[in-house]
Amino acid sequence: MKAYFADEQRRHDPRSFLSSGAPKPNPEVPARVDRLLAGAIAAGCAVERPGSYGLGPIAAIHTPEYVDFLQRIFERWQRIDGASAEVIPNIHPIARGGSYPASAVGQAGYHMADTSCPISEHTFESACWSAWTATAAAEAVEAGAASAYALCRPPGHHAFADVAGGFCFFNNSGIAAQRLRRSAERVAILDVDLHHGNGTQGVFYRRGDVLTVSIHADPERFYPFFWGYADERGEGAGLGCNFNLPLARKSGDDVFLEALAAAIRRIEAFAPGALVVALGLDAFEGDPFGGLSVSTPGFARIGEAIAAMRLPTVVVQEGGYLCDELSDNLTSFLTGFGGSHRTRG
Ligand SMILES: [Zn+2]
Repeated sequence: MKAYFADEQRRHDPRSFLSSGAPKPNPEVPARVDRLLAGAIAAGCAVERPGSYGLGPIAAIHTPEYVDFLQRIFERWQRIDGASAEVIPNIHPIARGGSYPASAVGQAGYHMADTSCPISEHTFESACWSAWTATAAAEAVEAGAASAYALCRPPGHHAFADVAGGFCFFNNSGIAAQRLRRSAERVAILDVDLHHGNGTQGVFYRRGDVLTVSIHADPERFYPFFWGYADERGEGAGLGCNFNLPLARKSGDDVFLEALAAAIRRIEAFAPGALVVALGLDAFEGDPFGGLSVSTPGFARIGEAIAAMRLPTVVVQEGGYLCDELSDNLTSFLTGFGGSHRTRG
């Protein structure tokens, strides 16, 4: 399978992170890339550098206000007396009822959902390359490849059209799906990350042409708290095109695979022309987030089940944090997927 990655994706190096109010080192570190690259290569992937696609694929999902904010906020932040080294919000609009502020501090609160996605000098550059990695993988599949892997870092599924959050800036899975829409009338996104893909859900919530399905730890006591419940089904033209499968904490392989079977039935009923897998590996039993208990061989079973849909597929990397098995978990998924994946016709 072809894989895509650009070295510029390493340059974003966030430091701060608040967990239950306590400052901790940010877990979305560049070192993740080395483990994921090793895992992809061990699965037989040939890694290529994506081209630069400009802002087009990003603007197809994100608002111009937000893109401009991400592009310039770090430089603007440096001009504030006594400000933090990284851009971190400290005020948020309640339900966005007010006006769009001109100030850097006000805009940081408007466009950043939480404190886990600090913006530093190279964040915009890395986020652009991550989005272009997703775009390149989607183009490879459009050009006839059965599947492609996008090593996206920073990740994307918590990013809404105009909001960063949860280590995410641009919604790479959404960008890949939108690209695939050029050749497929309907596209499905299947998110198997530990956390609900709230940004992806938000981007497509009112659209009937992109089905969003997410399997994740129950948000009742877990990030992202406000989204990810089973009764969120989409709105307007998108009603019935969002499907959430929250799982009890510490659920293991069998429970996950049962939910996956229900997700696959829903995707097959949508009859998409292409699939995006938002591949988080943080559902792993040894991941530092400790939310679910999927095993290393479990990821191969997940890959096999997804491959059996026989859809042209872009696999987009989402979460999965430093632990000894991070490489093996990616290899396991890609091997399980690639070993049984054949497209129709
Ligand atoms: Zn996650």
